[in-house]
Amino acid sequence: MAAKSFDVVVIGSGPGGYVAAIRAAQLGLNTCVVEREHLGGICLNWGCIPTKAMLRSSEVFHLMHRAKEFGLKAEGVDYDLPAVVDRSRKVAGQLSGGVKGLLKKNKVTVIMGEGTIPAKGKVSVKTDKGTEELTAKSIILATGARARELPGLEADGDLVWTYKAALTPKRMPKKLLVIGSGAIGIEFASFYNTLGADTTVVEVMDRVLPVEDADISAFAKKAFEKQGMKIMQKAMVKQLDRAKGKVTAHIEVGGKVEKHDFDTVISAVGIVGNVEGLGLEKLGVKVDRTHVVTDEYCRTGVEGIYAIGDIAGAPWLAHKASHEGVMVAELIAGKNDVHPIKPNSIAGCTYCHPQVASVGLTEAAAKEAGYTLKVGKFPFIGNGKAIALGEPEGMIKTVFDAKTGELLGAHMIGAEVTELIQGYVVGQALETTEEDLMHTVFPHPTLSEMMHESVLDAYDRVIHM
Ligand SMILES: Cc1cc2nc3c(=O)[nH]c(=O)nc-3n(C[C@H](O)[C@H](O)[C@H](O)COP(=O)(O)OP(=O)(O)OC[C@H]3O[C@@H](n4cnc5c(N)ncnc54)[C@H](O)[C@@H]3O)c2cc1C
Repeated sequence: MAAKSFDVVVIGSGPGGYVAAIRAAQLGLNTCVVEREHLGGICLNWGCIPTKAMLRSSEVFHLMHRAKEFGLKAEGVDYDLPAVVDRSRKVAGQLSGGVKGLLKKNKVTVIMGEGTIPAKGKVSVKTDKGTEELTAKSIILATGARARELPGLEADGDLVWTYKAALTPKRMPKKLLVIGSGAIGIEFASFYNTLGADTTVVEVMDRVLPVEDADISAFAKKAFEKQGMKIMQKAMVKQLDRAKGKVTAHIEVGGKVEKHDFDTVISAVGIVGNVEGLGLEKLGVKVDRTHVVTDEYCRTGVEGIYAIGDIAGAPWLAHKASHEGVMVAELIAGKNDVHPIKPNSIAGCTYCHPQVASVGLTEAAAKEAGYTLKVGKFPFIGNGKAIALGEPEGMIKTVFDAKTGELLGAHMIGAEVTELIQGYVVGQALETTEEDLMHTVFPHPTLSEMMHESVLDAYDRVIHM
C-alpha cells in the first residue's frame, strides 16, 4: 500500500499533540495525529482532569462537614469511593471524546496505533490491523511522559501506586504514605487525607511543594498539618518491605532510619519522558537523560523534527505543552511572528486544599538573580469575600524589581488562587509595572482585591491591613 502523505504528522495526542494538530490544520496544513492509547493524552485521561474531578468530590465532602458553620444541616455525610472514581472517569471520557470531535471538525486525520520514525520524513504506525506507512514534511514528537520509578520503590498497583492506580483505587487507604510533595503527590495526599486516610508525606527537600516560594511552602505545611497530615521534610524513603496488606517503609530522617507501616504507598517522585522506541538515536535526535533536547522554538536540531510538551522537558505542564504545540504549528506554517515562550511566564497550579498558584521568580530566586526587591504580602483574613466564603486561610505575595517596578513573581495560597493567578500572568505578558497594577480598579467584593492589596503592600500603601 502506498504511504499516505501529510504536511505534518504529530505523534501523541496529549494537550501538546492535539493542539498542535488543530493549529496546523487551521493554517491549511494536511495533518495527521498518531495515538497509541487515548485521545487527549495523560492530561485528559490520567492527569489534570480526572484528578481535578476527584479533588472536587473531596472539596464538596469537606464543605458538607462544615455545613453547620453555614447554617445548614447535612447529617450522615459519607462518600462512595467507586462513585467518586466513576464520576472522575466519566469526566475524563467526556473530554477525550471532545478531543475526537475537535480533531474531526478540523479535518485532522487520526490513526490509532504506535508511531515510530524509521527515517527522516517517515512515520510507521503499528495498528490493530497492521502497519501503516506515512510520509511527513514535518514530524512533531508529543509522546509525553510517564511516572518515574525508583529502584526498590516500584509501583505494583496493589500496595504501591503511581497516579493511574491512585486515580482508580479499588479500596480506600487507611494509612497512606505519599512519597514526594510536588504538585502530583500533594494533590493525592490532599484528596485521600480529606476523605479520612491517615496520611504521611515524605519530601527529600527541606520543604513541601519545593518549587514554590518558601513563604508559600511554610504556609502550606502548617495548613496540611492542621488538617491532620504528617509531613516529613529532608527525609528519604530508602526501602519498602511489602507483606500481605502492609508496607514497611524505611525512612531516613535526621541521619537515622525510622520504620513506619502503611497499607498504601503513592509514589510521586517525578516523571520520565517517553523517548524510547521512536528511533530517535538513529535519526540523530539528542536525548538528555529522559527528554529530547530542543532549542527555544522546540526544534530538535534534525531538520523537520520538533519536540513539544513533556517529552521536551520541564515544566511538565499541560498549558506549556499546548502553547509549544501552537508555536511549532505556526513555525511550520511559515508564520513570521512566532515567539518562543518566556520561561518565567508559565504559571504552576496545585489543586490541594488550600490551593497554590504561582508565576515567575520566587523571592529567593529573584534575590539570587541580583535584583533589589520590593515585596508585598496580603492575607486572606483581610479580604471581605474570603470571609464571606468562609475561606480566611491564605495569602498573596508579590515580588517586584525595586528599580523598574517590573512584576517579577507572584505567589498565592488559598481558595480559588488557581483561577486568580492568570490576572498576574496577563499583567506580566503586558509587561505591567507596579504603577499599572496600583491604578487598576479591582471589583468588590472579590478575592482578586487581594492581588491589588499585595501590590499596594509592596509599596507601603496597603489599605485593609
Ligand atoms: C496525576 C497528574 C496530574 C496532573 N495535573 C496537572 C495539572 O493540574 N495541570 C497541568 O498543567 N499539568 C498536570 N499534569 C501534567 C500534564 O498531564 C502533562 O504536562 C501533559 O499531559 C503533557 O502533555 P503532552 O502532550 O506533552 O503529553 P501527554 O499528555 O503525556 O500525551 C502524550 C500522548 O502520546 C501518546 N504516545 C506516546 N508514545 C507514543 C507513540 N510512540 N505512538 C503513539 N502515541 C504515543 C501517549 O499515549 C499519550 O496519549 C498532571 C500529570 C499527572 C500525571
